[in-house]
Amino acid sequence: MNLADKIQYLKGVGPNLALKLAKLEIKTIKDLFYYFPKYYEDRTKITKLCDLAIGQDLFVFADLASVYLEKKARVNILEATVEQSGYFLNLIWFNQEFLLKILQQALTKKQKIFAKGKIVLNNYSNSLQMQVKDFELIDSKLEQGLSVLRIVPFYSLTKGISQKKLRTLINYLLEEYLNLLQDFLPKLIREKYQLLNLKEAILNLHFPKNRALWLEAKYTMVFLEFFMFYLALKEANLGNIKSGISFKPSQKLYLQYLASLPFKLTKDQKKAIQDIFTDMQKPVQMQRLLQGDVGSGKTEVAIATILNALENGYQAVLMAPTEILAEQHYYKIKTQLQRLDLACLFLSSGVKQKEKAIIKQELASGKASLVIGTHALIQEDIDFKNLGLVVIDEQHRFGVKQRAMLMQKGYNPDWLIMTATPIPRTLAISLYSDLDQSIIKEMPLNRKPIKTFFIDKHNQTKIVKMYQFIKQKIAQEKQQVYFVYPLIEATEKKNLKAVTQELENLKLIFPDYKIALLHGKMKREAKEAVMNDFKAGNINILISTTVIEVGIDIANANIIVIENAERFGLSQLHQLRGRVGRANFQGFCFLIGEPKTQEGAKRISAMLKTSDGFEISELDLEIRGPGEILGLRQSGMPEFKLADILKDQKIMLKAKEAVLDLNLKEYEALIKIIGVNKADLI
Ligand code: ADP
Ligand code: MG
Repeated sequence: MNLADKIQYLKGVGPNLALKLAKLEIKTIKDLFYYFPKYYEDRTKITKLCDLAIGQDLFVFADLASVYLEKKARVNILEATVEQSGYFLNLIWFNQEFLLKILQQALTKKQKIFAKGKIVLNNYSNSLQMQVKDFELIDSKLEQGLSVLRIVPFYSLTKGISQKKLRTLINYLLEEYLNLLQDFLPKLIREKYQLLNLKEAILNLHFPKNRALWLEAKYTMVFLEFFMFYLALKEANLGNIKSGISFKPSQKLYLQYLASLPFKLTKDQKKAIQDIFTDMQKPVQMQRLLQGDVGSGKTEVAIATILNALENGYQAVLMAPTEILAEQHYYKIKTQLQRLDLACLFLSSGVKQKEKAIIKQELASGKASLVIGTHALIQEDIDFKNLGLVVIDEQHRFGVKQRAMLMQKGYNPDWLIMTATPIPRTLAISLYSDLDQSIIKEMPLNRKPIKTFFIDKHNQTKIVKMYQFIKQKIAQEKQQVYFVYPLIEATEKKNLKAVTQELENLKLIFPDYKIALLHGKMKREAKEAVMNDFKAGNINILISTTVIEVGIDIANANIIVIENAERFGLSQLHQLRGRVGRANFQGFCFLIGEPKTQEGAKRISAMLKTSDGFEISELDLEIRGPGEILGLRQSGMPEFKLADILKDQKIMLKAKEAVLDLNLKEYEALIKIIGVNKADLI
């Protein structure tokens, strides 16, 4: 048996149960080990039936003696008498007749019962009884061992899996296969930070021997999660000071560029550029994070940075997470550079082989100095003559690993990472404290906050009103509109509106206007043609999947309608909304949907509450947790299961220290284990 083996291989798990476990994200043996309880109940103290006290909540554990249902006019009372060494107690349930059968069966099977509830005096019979709040029928010695007279784990469940079932399964796993868990931490670290070994930690997280051990186990696991996280960051080269190129601050190109802009840079933009130029001048590698809300004008800062590298005779790369965004940067920057007599190239996986070969050749020879593109830039084997600068847009969409790969392409090139949505302050402090940061808080002048509305998807009256509003805006103000849908094809999920289908619907609603479709599966040329048409104003309404999410910049499009809005993540919604209201016009955002989960509802209300990206990012952190936000998933890192990046900051700092203290040998050994066998570790 291996940690990576499918959960079906575990004795007692058939295809049926495996399906249910999959719903809990338990697919492998390892997943089950790491499926930690949601909470615990301390059932170490069970009150004897001879020691009962009135008015208190307590636990009893006894034999079932009889079961009886009393039907009254207003209330049905279910009573079970339990017995223990000659003492009796009546357990009572109000209006829960459905339990009768279950209890009767338990009686015939001679099961024991564990019950939790309040002891009250029955005035008629002058005897004590328990109003039951919770109970478990105990079938065997094994179940008894797992559910009574101990600290008992409670897991998140799904239909068809009970606490008892899961406890039994996990207990079996721990008894039979605990040895699969290999401790990988250097012994010195374990001793210095007083950590349990991995086996003990996992064992005591599921079935704590006592409270003290549980605390130690939890501490150990939280430490390990942070430790792994910092190890991955270190591996990705973040936060290590390295020697680098010293660029002289650009004089000529930057000033020419400023003169060519139709607007003045904001104070924050200028400050960011100043910081960057100062950094670039130092003979160490620049590692700077540029944070700014959607639409705050980060691209302008990126261009200035690039010009600085070019003027110094170095090559530069700008990488963006989607083809459309990369292309848009390309066109925008190409036009800007043409005015300064500079050229740039575009590279994505969609570029034809012949063209690619030329691009590669020009980059290797140094003939071309700037290339803009997607992650194809790291996947293809591209060599540079003298790469001096790497700019990464919308960094949260890239994994830590991908970033590291691009960094390796030059001789310690300077790098600038731009975030699409601000990183929550709380996270930034703990994770990026080693990085230099520039923050653009100020929006370009005349920017108005976008008006955001939520419409229930069944509220036809309101939807029709919205259509009328849109028609008016198109007719009278020549405004353009985005309609965004979560998926491309109906087959992907039947109940979601398919964009292709929606095109036909919208054509009926807006017969007088030009409507076009844009989605990720379209060919590059086709996408480009649609975007150009939309930019030129030949298209009134653009129906799209999230391909427009990041970076698309069309000043005349000021209304966005987001269908099934509850399906999108919060920062995604914020990004989408950021597509409109980019110039002097009032922007409008309509969120249509039907939030079915609490989280979905929270996201919608966050959107209605604020349009400040910094505030949104804090709310997003609350809703999603840090793992998702940092893109740990793409980078192959596990999400934090127990660690709480906000509450566990002390442990986090210790883990960070431990990673920084690793000597090269230990570090390489760890990376080796983790690199080779990541799936098998925490
Ligand atoms: P971000 O990438 O930060 O979301 P962009 O760089 O796409 O934002 O800029 C948003 C829009 O605002 C662009 O059309 C850009 O030309 C414009 N813009 C940027 N800086 C300014 C400024 N200082 N004054 C007016 N408009 C600006
Ligand atoms: Mg941008």
